[in-house]
Amino acid sequence: MTTEAKTVLKLAKVQDAHLKDKNVLVRVDYNVPLKDGVITDDTRIRETMKTVKLLLEGDNRVVLMAHLGRPKGQPVEKYSLKPVAARLGELSGAEVHFAPDCVGPEADRVVAAAKKGEIVLLENLRFHAGEEKNDENFAKQLAKHGEFFVQEAFGALHRAHASTAAIAKFLPGAIGFLVQKELEYLDHAMVSPVRPFLAIIGGAKVSDKISVLYSLIEKVDTLIIGGGMAYTFLAAQNTNIGNSLLDADKVEEAKKIILKAHRNNVELLLPADHRVVSEIKADAEVEVTQAMAVPDGMIGVDIGPRTEMLFADKIKGSKTVFWNGPVGIFETPAFASGSITVAEAMAAATRAGATTILGGGDTLSVLKTAKVSPDSISHCSTGGGASLEFVEGKQLPGLVALSQK
Ligand code: AMP
Repeated sequence: MTTEAKTVLKLAKVQDAHLKDKNVLVRVDYNVPLKDGVITDDTRIRETMKTVKLLLEGDNRVVLMAHLGRPKGQPVEKYSLKPVAARLGELSGAEVHFAPDCVGPEADRVVAAAKKGEIVLLENLRFHAGEEKNDENFAKQLAKHGEFFVQEAFGALHRAHASTAAIAKFLPGAIGFLVQKELEYLDHAMVSPVRPFLAIIGGAKVSDKISVLYSLIEKVDTLIIGGGMAYTFLAAQNTNIGNSLLDADKVEEAKKIILKAHRNNVELLLPADHRVVSEIKADAEVEVTQAMAVPDGMIGVDIGPRTEMLFADKIKGSKTVFWNGPVGIFETPAFASGSITVAEAMAAATRAGATTILGGGDTLSVLKTAKVSPDSISHCSTGGGASLEFVEGKQLPGLVALSQK
């Protein structure tokens, strides 16, 4: 069993706390995408509704705290959580009061004025430097708003911040339904996956994913590496990559990963052909390579059609699939084919009874591009960074803080 699995078992659950007529302080992850003040994807808000509604039914006053963007310890208008308050009202059907600060007299006043069965949304925690410093005094001020703390911010669990870590020193706490669901899916995949177990890791930055690759090699039957990352691995095998993305500092590390996969009897699949361009631009002329090598002067921007078929077959033949990171520069429609095929194969695998898990903002955007509904995937994680750190086997500070109580 993983370390996290042991931690999970020791964590109290919100439904077991039987909270009634209390002030309940809930850390949520409402770091939603906004365009001109309008929320473009409210998944993270919707995903917290089960916990929020349970607390409202118990006649509690629900005080929600969250962060948005990176305002770096001071108020920045464009990072205000105000637009979230309106959406919260629509989704919960409850009265929502917005506190223009998360601590201090104004916040205290708004919380005190809220009635049973109502919600208070506190302004962005990161408007105060104490949040990211995991400052105990700041956490103490936040803790004044509640008699009980619920951790529901899966996407922030890997951060040791005042509202995720230090806060647990001042209040009894439990994890909410969303955190439970996220941990159950990831834990199940990492501890007792139904085999064959396949992981697909894509994206651009090798350095971000080294430890997760090492961890996956201990668990999976097949590991697919795609996207910009794949070229560092191809270079490590002395395959020509032309002008494709290369993390020269990580070639040696890539060699070690390839060797370790071999030793562990893990099937490691890299792209067998590519879509290449001479220049990255939307209307570039796209060519398909005949083999694994990228011709001199060309840039690999997507996996090729043969690789698409290979990867799709692997996905459809697996019983557990974990996917993080696009396999091409999917933001450009001409380079999105490979990532769309992966998304469609994930949905097909789910229909055929596999457990499919994906994480990361880019990976979720691929679903949108592919017009694949998140409902056709077993579990779309709301936290890319947190899910990767979980898979790496790291202790998540937001859970450790609660389990020590
Ligand atoms: P990451 O943040 O490391 O998960 O990387 C996500 C980014 O990887 C996306 O913005 C993709 O456009 C990019 N990406 C995927 N494939 C490639 C590629 N072949 N070359 C360069 N970037 C890529």
